Amino acid sequence: MSIISNAREIADVVKKLGNIDLYRKIVDLEGEIIELTGQNHLLLEKIGDLEKALKTKAQLLFEKNVYWLAEAQAKDGPYCQRCYDVAGKLVRLQPWDDLWACFECKQHYDR
Ligand SMILES: [Zn+2]
Repeated sequence: MSIISNAREIADVVKKLGNIDLYRKIVDLEGEIIELTGQNHLLLEKIGDLEKALKTKAQLLFEKNVYWLAEAQAKDGPYCQRCYDVAGKLVRLQPWDDLWACFECKQHYDR
């Protein structure tokens, strides 16, 4: 049973007992529990995003002005240096004549 439904059950019992002041305080407490639960959920999401970003950063190789992701047996990429450094986005570069092109920020890199 969750902490929110526990608070609701306590509020119902206190309401039946007729203690309105205590009932109001428990209802306020229930609201604070709901708000804290929501904030906790957002923080857990943010931690997950940061862990993912740290893992990506640990895998990044910077060679000839572009990024590669180091995999177990090979490397994946290349990815745009500008998009990653400015926005934290891994955008795969496309071959464009003798260059690599980023279709997101329109940057070109030597191959
Ligand atoms: Zn880019």
